Amino acid sequence: MGIKVAKFGGSSVADALQIGKIKRIIENDSDIKYVVVSAPGKRFKDDSKITDLLYLCKTHIDHKIPYEQIFQVIHDRFISMEVDLGVNVNIADDLKEIKNEIENGASADYIASRGEYLNAKLIAAYLGFAFVDAKNIIRFSDRGKILEDVTNDSINRVLTESGPAVIPGFYGEKLDGTIKTFSRGGSDITGAIISRAVGAEVYENWTDVSGFLMADPRIVDNPKPIESISYMELRELSYMGASVLHEDSIYPAKVADIPINIRNTNRPEDPGTMITAKPNAASNQVVSGIAGKKGFIVIGVYKSHMAGEKGFIRKLSGIMEDNDITIEHLPTGIDTMSVVIDNRMVNGRLDEIVEDIQRQLKPDTLEVVHDIALIATVGAGMAARKGTSATLFSALAKAGINVRMIDQGSSEMNIIVGVDEKDFDKAIKAIYNAFEA
Ligand code: ASP
Repeated sequence: MGIKVAKFGGSSVADALQIGKIKRIIENDSDIKYVVVSAPGKRFKDDSKITDLLYLCKTHIDHKIPYEQIFQVIHDRFISMEVDLGVNVNIADDLKEIKNEIENGASADYIASRGEYLNAKLIAAYLGFAFVDAKNIIRFSDRGKILEDVTNDSINRVLTESGPAVIPGFYGEKLDGTIKTFSRGGSDITGAIISRAVGAEVYENWTDVSGFLMADPRIVDNPKPIESISYMELRELSYMGASVLHEDSIYPAKVADIPINIRNTNRPEDPGTMITAKPNAASNQVVSGIAGKKGFIVIGVYKSHMAGEKGFIRKLSGIMEDNDITIEHLPTGIDTMSVVIDNRMVNGRLDEIVEDIQRQLKPDTLEVVHDIALIATVGAGMAARKGTSATLFSALAKAGINVRMIDQGSSEMNIIVGVDEKDFDKAIKAIYNAFEA
């Protein structure tokens, strides 16, 4: 087997109990050679994430409000982790140095990165792995852009020498020697960059859920987990509001064609979801997932002989552009055209937009439908399967749902329907039940 890179998110490394679980995971899989860790996250619902507390210290300092009490919480948490893990890495000395840097005007990026730094030190000692500071391998230009070649070379050089290692996620170093963090949640990116550089066979991303589910569990009871999904399908689902990895975090693994396996630290026996470059050809699953979002408006225009009028779409999309609105969908008929837009973007300017359309396009009729929900049914398996849309629409008809809009992407990977918001849950349930088997 090849090398695996495993990244453990905040809740997986929140305390000694969780870190005990990651030790068992790593002991059970000798292919895991490099471990990327987040800062300690929440241990319980109302707990604080270390990264949030670090940022809070900085905000207090900027406003000249005493920050010491907050720092003490961070301090005490790391000290007790060191005790609970039974390791000795002199974390108190590091904490003292960090406090010193803070007093001397350290940057927000430096302060925020220390959660990962300290946690990786503790975890490396506990696992018996080397500690490799991310600043030595993740390199940014002075303008904060990741330097891909330098980073790849550094990773290969440093990690070949270190052997199995724990690396703090979320940050690296700029050419001028200062610390630079990624955006929030950026340890995922560190894991993907390292996976690419070492040519990992798989990038395991350990969280507190067993991968993605076919539908929102708040709407569908016990939805089936998604065993395997391609990056493209996932993108279609994330666009529709399913909460997934950030696009940036999958990019490095995606370009290097490295599968990402989302796993659950609390249920390591679950296989999780495998995200791959190409759809799984062996799967006979037609639909991979269903996701949707409320809050859309459909503006429908009708004009006789519209089909023969040049520039109609350009003018309509120009009006949206002028109003700083992106178009979600543009379903068309011969003499009709509808534009589906997100109400959050309209921001109370609907009357102006309608007026612009009336003035510039002179439609015979114009209709605005509010409170529309869009539902995307996504599956690479749909293209090859006859009758998919028949199944979908008869399920909706049987459930008594009026479909207000239909759009199918040219990739045939995705069918989007617009329904009244009040039918949202019912529609998702009906679609799920039709395809779940
Ligand atoms: N600790 C950082 C955050 O909370 C980065 C991460 O966990 O990925 O955003």
